[in-house]
Amino acid sequence: MTPRLDWLDDEVAALQRGQLYRPLRTRESVQGAIVDLDGRSLVNFGSNDYLGLAVECGKAVDVAVAPRGGGSAASPAIHGRGACHDRLERLIAEFEQCERALLFPTGYATNVGVIPSITGHGDVIFSDTLNHASLIDGCRLSAAKVLIYRHGDVDHLTELLRASSTYRRRLIVTESLFSMDGDFAPLAEICELAERFDAMTMIDEAHGSGVWGQHGRGVAELLGVEQSIDIRVGTLSKAFGAGGGFVCGSEALVTWMRHRARSYFFSTAMPEPVVEMAIFGMKAAIAEPWRRETVIAHSQLARQQLQLLGWDTGLSTSQIVPVHIGESERAMEWMNRLTAANIFVPAIRPPSVPDGRALLRLSFSAAHTPEMIQQLLESFRV
Ligand SMILES: *Cc1c(COP(=O)(O)O)cnc(C)c1O
Repeated sequence: MTPRLDWLDDEVAALQRGQLYRPLRTRESVQGAIVDLDGRSLVNFGSNDYLGLAVECGKAVDVAVAPRGGGSAASPAIHGRGACHDRLERLIAEFEQCERALLFPTGYATNVGVIPSITGHGDVIFSDTLNHASLIDGCRLSAAKVLIYRHGDVDHLTELLRASSTYRRRLIVTESLFSMDGDFAPLAEICELAERFDAMTMIDEAHGSGVWGQHGRGVAELLGVEQSIDIRVGTLSKAFGAGGGFVCGSEALVTWMRHRARSYFFSTAMPEPVVEMAIFGMKAAIAEPWRRETVIAHSQLARQQLQLLGWDTGLSTSQIVPVHIGESERAMEWMNRLTAANIFVPAIRPPSVPDGRALLRLSFSAAHTPEMIQQLLESFRV
């Protein structure tokens, strides 16, 4: 080894001094309401498995895929897209009530592929300041001008749109349900503005799909604006319990993505077992509405009780409930205290949140039992 990477030792030491160092964790059990972490069995409030489908998907795929393939061994543009990918894309389009859907290897790959393929030189993107890293990176890969509007601030967005008439095309991009604060984007107002200023709309339903709306299609369904959204992206890795990402919309949108989205055609198609898991997970989410009803009820109860205990749950109105703590050190203390009570809750610290805004991020799941929710609330008593 040469000394050329020695500077990394100083960088890592700085992480440790700032309480920002992350131990490399290994989960020893399957993903579920209870997980074995570092030799302990913990009730899991840190998972995006909102509908409790991850373990079910695992069981289903043993049966569904045993006689079939593994890796896809080619880009979907060559011959990596098999019959199961076709079935999954059709299922997503039907579920989402869109003309077409297109699979990407992950949700992250979807966003970094979609945004630069619909915007370029001479265009402008309006992006919420709390958008997920994959949306931010998608904006960075685009040659378009990127303007950041304050979180959920419709007035600020209006102001920026007003000054945008010199650009060729406009795109407003936002998460529908924000992954740190657990709040919804003001989609109805955003759609009105898009109409008024002739802007394309793109929403990321990573945390919304499967959970919100009468049929579980997401926050756009809940807020009644599905017809005004041009581009919807989602992931199969959260509520649907599998892996992979998708974009859905018009036939033309999907055709264009197939030709232009680099993370689509320069990456191997999703492995077939994962596709089969996603098919199972999406069908189960559709057929079993009790799952979304349960996760929403758990989170409503917990949020109410936490507030009664004096905790600040910020803007949350969803299955993601932040408990705002402030300093990173204090957040770590609380995380350790919860671990001692056999509860896993991740402490979210800078750089995921701004300095001094550390929080404990609770994620609820249909797999939680009422007893688990009570155990959680008990340990938040001071
Ligand atoms: C998790 C997440 C993604 C990425 O999805 P993966 O399938 O995990 O790559 C994209 N957008 C948002 C808002 C997310 O929370």
